[in-house]
Amino acid sequence: MRGCSEDELIEICQTIGLKRFRAIQLFQWAQQKAVRSWDDMKNIGKSDRQTLSTRLHLYALKKVREQRSNDGTRKYLFCLEDGETIECVLMDYARTKSRDRHTVCVSTQVGCPVGCAFCATGLEGFRRNLSVAEIVGQVLDITYYVRQEDPDFQVTNIVFMGMGEPLLNYDSVLKSIQLLNDAQGLNIGMRRMTISTSGVVPKIIQLAEDNPQVGLAISLHAARDEIRNSLVPMNRRYPLNQLMRACQEYTHITHRRITFEVALTAENARREEAEALARLLKGQLGHVNLIPVNPVAGTGMERPDQEKMKKFAQVLVDAGISVSSREERGTDIDAACGQLRRQWEGELK
Ligand code: SF4
Repeated sequence: MRGCSEDELIEICQTIGLKRFRAIQLFQWAQQKAVRSWDDMKNIGKSDRQTLSTRLHLYALKKVREQRSNDGTRKYLFCLEDGETIECVLMDYARTKSRDRHTVCVSTQVGCPVGCAFCATGLEGFRRNLSVAEIVGQVLDITYYVRQEDPDFQVTNIVFMGMGEPLLNYDSVLKSIQLLNDAQGLNIGMRRMTISTSGVVPKIIQLAEDNPQVGLAISLHAARDEIRNSLVPMNRRYPLNQLMRACQEYTHITHRRITFEVALTAENARREEAEALARLLKGQLGHVNLIPVNPVAGTGMERPDQEKMKKFAQVLVDAGISVSSREERGTDIDAACGQLRRQWEGELK
């Protein structure tokens, strides 16, 4: 049911002889109030709830682990009906309560077929795409759990940046965005949602045409094909010249700035890489986000020191490129994508 639009619920209700207003109530309970049980739908009578529960599956995710960081990051491990697990992160909750900005980082696949060199999820390979109910369900269940302590809690921003490549699960991600944006649901603004991709070129252009309001972030990480091929294997299929052409087309259609994410390791945080990046992004409407890589067992990568990060950023600033460094979040709880799941699966063995 969490994957159904209001129109789809209206149709289902009509087939079982229930009025349109029931479907609207149902949609609000599922998508706005984030309930996890039929019994919580207080304004729907018991017999209607029973009839509905034979036709519709509510599908609340099972929380198997929650970690809380000292910096306010909360990380959740959810178990799906087939026993697979996915991670989902609420960023900055405690710190930004007063500023009212609560971002959820959502997974879109179980595992990931891309296999980026620095990513714990990629190390595990690909299992399957998530359904719309499973994608939206992460935001709804986090909302539900936090509201147990803070009844006014609202998610304000979404980043499709958790486990998986969102543009390889395109239709489900786009429908999830529509549901999360619905005024009768959580009503999260389109411009407050961002899809992060490793560079699935045809889908970048399709996204610009299908939903020009949603933000786009590119996991760039390197400005030269020979390096990016080894860090982000998607580059072998869509090399940098194709990717940058797609980015230009995207900004031409949407007039929106793209965020370019660059994970810096002790090895690649060098002046010549920064200069290559400045050349690559010349003339592109964009912003660079520098991220010190999270140490992940099995990747052999080390975090660069602050001085190296600053020098790298300065080369970009000198070239007139907008740049910021992402703060490290949740390092005390293994917040890098896929780490909690790996740890949990390791314990089960
Ligand atoms: S960084 Fe993203 S695209 Fe790359 S392997 Fe990890 S989940 Fe997949």
